[in-house]
Amino acid sequence: MSTPDRGAPITVIGVPTDVNSSFLAGAALAPNHIRGALHSPSTNLWTENEIDLGAHSGWEDLGDLDVDDTEIGESIDQGISRLIETGGRVVALGGDHAITYPIVRATARRHENLTILHLDAHADLYDEFEGNRESNACPFARIMEDGLAGRVVQIGIRTLNSHQRRQADRFGVEVHGARLVPSIAGLGLQAPLYLSLDLDVLDPSCAPGVAHPEPGGLTTREVISIIQDLPCPLIGADIVELNPTRDFNGLTAMVAAKLMKEILANMIGSQ
Ligand code: MN
Ligand code: MN
Repeated sequence: MSTPDRGAPITVIGVPTDVNSSFLAGAALAPNHIRGALHSPSTNLWTENEIDLGAHSGWEDLGDLDVDDTEIGESIDQGISRLIETGGRVVALGGDHAITYPIVRATARRHENLTILHLDAHADLYDEFEGNRESNACPFARIMEDGLAGRVVQIGIRTLNSHQRRQADRFGVEVHGARLVPSIAGLGLQAPLYLSLDLDVLDPSCAPGVAHPEPGGLTTREVISIIQDLPCPLIGADIVELNPTRDFNGLTAMVAAKLMKEILANMIGSQ
C-alpha cells in the first residue's frame, strides 16, 4: 500500500467502451485514434520538458483491455487491478467517462485516501441518469458513495444544475467552474493523486470531437499548464470522451495525444 515513485512502471491501456454513454456512441473508437495521433509523423514523441517518449523505457502501451460490455464495470476493475497489482501505474484511454468508477475502485484498493483531480465541463454527479446508475453522467456519485476518494477537486465545470449542486455539497466535492480556473499550486493537492480528464473540459473550438460539446471551456494551453503544474507524480490517469465520429481532421485526437504526452511527462518526471 505504498505510493509509487516516478520509477514505477507506467502502462497505457485502451478501454474501448461506450456502453454507458448517455447521449451518443463513438467513444469506444477513441483509443486507436489517440494512438494514431501520438505516432503521427506530423509531430514527435517529445514532451515539453524534453523527454523522448519514443526512447524512454519507463512506459509501455499494452493495447486495449479485453472488456465485456455485459459486465463492463467488473471487467474494467479486474483488468486495471491486474495492471497495478505489482505497483505499476496506469494511463487509461477511454471510452466514455463511466470507465472512471471501476478504474478508481481498483486504484483505491491499492492506494488509500486518493485525491482525484477531475477536469470536465460536467460534474458527473447524477444519482442516476435516465435510469442508469452506471451512466457516464454518474461516476463521481458512485466514487463518493463508496468512499473511494478522500478528496475530489473539479475544474472547468459549467453545466451544474440544482441536483448536482446538492450532490456536490452532500459529498463535499470541490467544484471550480470554468469561469475561474484556480491556481494549481493553491489547491494543496497531495499524493496519491489521480487525474480524470474528460476532453469536454476544453472549449469546443479546441476539442470539437466529443459527445457533449459545451462552449466556454478551457484552452488546450490551460489544460497543459494544469498538468505541468501538478505538485506530485500521478498515481494514475484517464483521458475520456473522445468521440472520433464528431471530430474534425483528427484535431481532438491530436489534443488527447498531446495531453497524454504531458501526463506521461508528469509521471516520469525530469530526466
Ligand atoms: Mn465526464
Ligand atoms: Mn463532460
